Amino acid sequence: MGDSKEGAVLDRVDISGIPTPSEQIEFLQKIERLLSEGQFVASYKFALLRALADLSVELGDDSGHALPIPITAIAEEFVELYWRQVRPIYEQGQILRQNTGQQAKIVQIVSRCISRYCGNLSQFQKNYEDWNRTILEVAQVIRLMPLWRLQVVGRRSDEFLYQHSESNESIILKGGVAFCFRRFYSMIRNMVEGSWINFIRSLNLYKLGESLDLPEFLFGSVRAPLSALQPGLLEIQNGLCFYCSHPIRQDSAIDHFIPWSSYPSDLGHNLVLADARCNSKKGNLLPAEAHLEKWLIRTHSFQGNLEDLFLEVNFPFEYPLSVAITRWAYAQTDETNGVTWNLEDERELLTGQWRSLLGPEVTKNTTNQ
Ligand SMILES: [Zn+2]
Repeated sequence: MGDSKEGAVLDRVDISGIPTPSEQIEFLQKIERLLSEGQFVASYKFALLRALADLSVELGDDSGHALPIPITAIAEEFVELYWRQVRPIYEQGQILRQNTGQQAKIVQIVSRCISRYCGNLSQFQKNYEDWNRTILEVAQVIRLMPLWRLQVVGRRSDEFLYQHSESNESIILKGGVAFCFRRFYSMIRNMVEGSWINFIRSLNLYKLGESLDLPEFLFGSVRAPLSALQPGLLEIQNGLCFYCSHPIRQDSAIDHFIPWSSYPSDLGHNLVLADARCNSKKGNLLPAEAHLEKWLIRTHSFQGNLEDLFLEVNFPFEYPLSVAITRWAYAQTDETNGVTWNLEDERELLTGQWRSLLGPEVTKNTTNQ
């Protein structure tokens, strides 16, 4: 039963074009099935799905084309995801189990690196030799384990997401797949995180005290120390709130320009300083196009100062990636006629100006060396 219905999303490798509504629904159903039925002893499948969704946003576009993804790029996503989760839960130094048997290999690798770099991820990333060696080691585990198993449900393999490329260095997301990951990013992220949380909870019943907020611990927003950026941003913004331009007194907040709830990016350029009022009024909405223009002007005028600041406080940044994420966020909001936030309680629809502000889409599959 059911076997004969497979295949609409399948075999789209060479087809370019936007998937039909029924193909999009089928895609979501298949993701749901992977999460509920795919059998895994480790949490890798969650990390892999999450990595593929993130990389579709970061490297892909909305053309419906197939998208090659280097396995090392997936490995980098794994290290960043587990970096947060593998830190000790309490002072006694225990870490959460991510596997039914012995601790998962990638968790062991990341755990070693966390001790070596005292939990400082950007320090680790700057040590190119060690970072690259670790990424290769993690990529090898991904190649052997979750990559071929992800698409096996029951005993049947349904390669609806990707096929392995001949080089063994990358996979190719089939036509329509990156499109669906981008279109349904929030939904898929919520599905993956929900399943991941349940998985961790069931494996760690004895370790979890009442006081641990598991979702926040695993996926919360403070991964990098934001407060270190405060004085520098205040200076760059001339002491004014990024949004309303009123002088900031004591009530400033570091604000994710593209909200963390839309896309969890810790990249420096995405951060602005706002007063508490604007920060709370903005909530989880995307800023209006006028703010986008301001954001671009700030970034161009203060490119050097910003990057010096990020380097000084050891904060990750990658401007082209921030722009790719920003373009994605505006495109998705535009597509669904979503509203943006201007000031106070003002809501605005997009006019399409964001397209000219952000410039033409650049295919950036070449940036992962
Ligand atoms: Zn303000």
